[in-house]
Amino acid sequence: MTTIAIDLGGSRIKIGLVADGKVLKSTMLDANSGHGLQNRLTTIEDTIRRLLTKEEIEDTKGIGIAYPGLVNWKEKRVIQGNGKYTDAPSVDLEKWAKDVFQLPMIMENDANAALLGELYYGCGHGAEDAVMLILGTGVGTAAVMGGQLIRGKHNQAGCLGGHFPTEINGRPCTCPGRGCIEANASTWTLPRLIKEHKDYMQSGLCEEKMIDFKTLKEYVLIQDKVAVDTLDYCTKTWANCIISLIYAYDPEVILLSGGVIKFGSILLEPMLEYVKKNVWTPWGKVEFRIAENTEHSVLLGLHWLLNKS
Ligand SMILES: [Zn+2]
Repeated sequence: MTTIAIDLGGSRIKIGLVADGKVLKSTMLDANSGHGLQNRLTTIEDTIRRLLTKEEIEDTKGIGIAYPGLVNWKEKRVIQGNGKYTDAPSVDLEKWAKDVFQLPMIMENDANAALLGELYYGCGHGAEDAVMLILGTGVGTAAVMGGQLIRGKHNQAGCLGGHFPTEINGRPCTCPGRGCIEANASTWTLPRLIKEHKDYMQSGLCEEKMIDFKTLKEYVLIQDKVAVDTLDYCTKTWANCIISLIYAYDPEVILLSGGVIKFGSILLEPMLEYVKKNVWTPWGKVEFRIAENTEHSVLLGLHWLLNKS
């Protein structure tokens, strides 16, 4: 069955036509998430109509929407974002999908959708107990136990691993807390981390206008002390997040995804080494797998949910 999947990312919106576990067509547009969701709906509608023929839209079973925040999947509404599309809780997306495309709609947290996409159409194949760690702008997590997606009483289980607190009086986060995993190690916090280093003014990084993990990797490769120390701190912080996820959800496999993961062994090797050294799993070793469809796993997960509904 064919489905339309919309991934409302913080910086980009991905839209795809998905059939039989494959993304047939997809496109992206700027999210402008700081300006709200209601303002983007006409553009999203226009983009879908440009991407798909009239026949393709008529042939679809439904629309799946992923949101980067807390989602009430039963009521098909956004509970709360995190500075992204702040008007989303008041936007009736089910009504929009029905009015504009005459289609039913489902909604899910984006990390949950990404995990389902990889579990059923990617690297997670065959796993019944899995956890996903997504290193993107922030840190996303999701968990499946016994084949069931973990959502919890208030739809906030599994998906808030990036906000596991690690420090008292730590750095302020985008959530109400301080010292969270993503406040300590993520793309959005990276410029702050680097500036806090005592040798920052001696590092070439102080000349850089834009600092992300690509920039950091370049400086790690030339053995810049600030870059090396910062990457070490980040990999250990993410490793601690993985260890907490293992204790919370007891998975057989950890799926790793997100734009930061693509920086490869320079990041993965120390992170996984730290997990192996410090985790307590008397039964054996948790397996690690890298996401196969980083760009499309959210769209694929929405497709799976729509076909299941
Ligand atoms: Zn937080």
